[in-house]
Amino acid sequence: MSIKLSIPRGIIYHSLLEDIKWLTCSLFVRLDDREIILGFEREFAKFMSAKHCVAFPFARTAIYFAIKNQMFPKGAEIIMPPITIKGILDVILQLELKPVFVDIDPDTLCFDELKFAESINSNTKAVIFTYLFGIVPNMSGLMSIAKSNNLFVVEDFSQCLNGKFGDQKVGTFGDVGIYSASSIKTLDTYGGGLLITNSDKIFSAMISEQAKLEKSNRFVLIRKILTDIIRNLATNRFVFSFFVFHLLKILNLISPTSVIQQTGDRQKSMISLMPKEWFQLFTSLQAKIGLSIIPRIEQEDSERVRNVEKLKFKIKPEAVIFPKGVNGATNVYWQLIGCIHHQEVQSKMQHFGVDTARSSLLQISALKAYPYQGVTPNATNLYNTGYFVPSYPKLSDKDLNRIAEAFNSLVENPQT
Ligand SMILES: *Cc1c(COP(=O)(O)O)cnc(C)c1O
Repeated sequence: MSIKLSIPRGIIYHSLLEDIKWLTCSLFVRLDDREIILGFEREFAKFMSAKHCVAFPFARTAIYFAIKNQMFPKGAEIIMPPITIKGILDVILQLELKPVFVDIDPDTLCFDELKFAESINSNTKAVIFTYLFGIVPNMSGLMSIAKSNNLFVVEDFSQCLNGKFGDQKVGTFGDVGIYSASSIKTLDTYGGGLLITNSDKIFSAMISEQAKLEKSNRFVLIRKILTDIIRNLATNRFVFSFFVFHLLKILNLISPTSVIQQTGDRQKSMISLMPKEWFQLFTSLQAKIGLSIIPRIEQEDSERVRNVEKLKFKIKPEAVIFPKGVNGATNVYWQLIGCIHHQEVQSKMQHFGVDTARSSLLQISALKAYPYQGVTPNATNLYNTGYFVPSYPKLSDKDLNRIAEAFNSLVENPQT
């Protein structure tokens, strides 16, 4: 008899062995070797075909400095995605700017072009394009709206590393591109915010902000590596099948909301002060880790994209509604998300040994504790009905068949 291993919702893009190696290093190696950090910045810029790269500890930190540097007047409007991490909203508010949320286009999960154009007024100064789940929108349409209105363009390509429109990588269309090298991303250096730009002026301003950051804290780095180790162990196929999967089933009965999102419930209250951790230097160990990962990203991307293509072919359109995408785009599908209108998705999937989850990003346009909200029905729909279809590298054809079968079961007549 062969054992059918359960399929976890997602993975960490490091092996456990690598995590343990980097944990060991983090205990004693030097963390402030400028040469290594410069080497990584240069290599990442080259990988992106951008002129410059400056490494910050978080994507939110990079966005904070990129926008602060523009010295927009108080209350200037910044167009933001309705779904992203809360830290980005926090830094915009710290800069005393006004977030304006524009709804997504269900086909691309980025701004609806018409709604984007309509939301611009004389007080609008910048826009943050965010490529959710590795889908690329029509960049020529979006960029021409931004440029004709003189907006400062920030691209958050944390979920879309290597995505392209035409033959240009996302992250290089705007004034700055920001990548978060945090846990569960495809280039994960245990945290980091990599800012890329072709502007010498922005580059020199960012370098001087980077130089003012505080010394990094070794314990913070160790804690981040430990977090990845725990996630890595939890999503190991054996540990997951014999332990975590059953634990999730039990938890699902006790507290469904904590299980339904990929990494659990997130803090939703407003912050008054930005934590110190956001302003500590990116370390040379993280740079070294980044250098070791860059050469394999494309291979992992193409394995994942191949899985996605197979799954989209096998899963019935009545079961899962996938974003259609646009012509000219090369999507990387960091996570394959689709909308499902069914009440008990997780328990149905568990039947087949397939784990799924909804995104743990927040719908920042609907946070009750915050002063600004937005009407973004498409984002609300994605937030409430979007589930991940496991598609990461290393899944076998048998796994993919089982995943498709599980999702297809949602539209079959319940006979039993
Ligand atoms: C993961 C992620 C981030 C993370 O930002 P940090 O400030 O580095 O934690 C930012 N934006 C998006 C879209 C993300 O998915």
